[in-house]
Amino acid sequence: MSKKKKLYEGKAKIIFKGEKPNTLIQYFKDDATAFNNKKKGTIPGKGVINNLISELLMNRLSQLNILNHLIKRINMREQLVHEVEIIPIEVVVRNVATGSLVKRLGIKEGKLLTRPLVEFYLKNDSLNDPIVSEEHILTFGWANNHELEEIIATTLRINDFLMGYFLSQNIRLVDFKLEYGRFWENEESLIMLADEISPDNCRLWDIKTNKKLDKDRFREDLGQVDNAYKEVAYRLGVLSENEFNKALKDEI
Ligand code: C5P
Repeated sequence: MSKKKKLYEGKAKIIFKGEKPNTLIQYFKDDATAFNNKKKGTIPGKGVINNLISELLMNRLSQLNILNHLIKRINMREQLVHEVEIIPIEVVVRNVATGSLVKRLGIKEGKLLTRPLVEFYLKNDSLNDPIVSEEHILTFGWANNHELEEIIATTLRINDFLMGYFLSQNIRLVDFKLEYGRFWENEESLIMLADEISPDNCRLWDIKTNKKLDKDRFREDLGQVDNAYKEVAYRLGVLSENEFNKALKDEI
């Protein structure tokens, strides 16, 4: 692990100060938590896989001119990223009804939605990340009107791209969560995608069998959690079985 100054340790990642100003290092852990920290565990090799998958997807988004915080991957566990001022909202997009949507509104599990549904949750563990509306976001100043419009438009572009990208590997992108921040350039701030895109914050189902290939296997005790993450990595072509085993053996 890096000898850099630790700024913050989250559930799945550690954030260190980068060498250059306004940069951070994201270290991806194997720790997994669910239900707001009530369930804890470890998924061997998860950090390596999430690092590589997130790198691939963020780089693809950059190629589509979608601003994101990734500067470069440093090694099998770490990425160099831009420091942003995190907007305290989790943005969830749903293409298929499952999870909290089904529980909250009684929608039929597995129903294909006729349009992507964008939802907002306040990032607040002590309140259990409650769902909030655009009105709440504007009233309490978590983001301004312009920022919110930018976040929604960017999120829908990301969803379109990711759905197609996963579909090409026979994976259905059911839903996922994004986090954004403000990236300051001189006096101006730009909306920048932050955090990660990985099987930790996406629901991914095999297109033919609906087999879950994501963190729901951990949440629901379905077993073979590490294999599901590996399966996504292999399908996306970010690492081979040999490289994965080597990464775990030569642990940084
Ligand atoms: O639980 P829920 O159905 O609201 O989750 C929607 C999506 O957001 C899922 O893909 C889940 O993995 C992701 N999520 C997340 N972090 C949270 C809550 C949800 O990554 N704190």
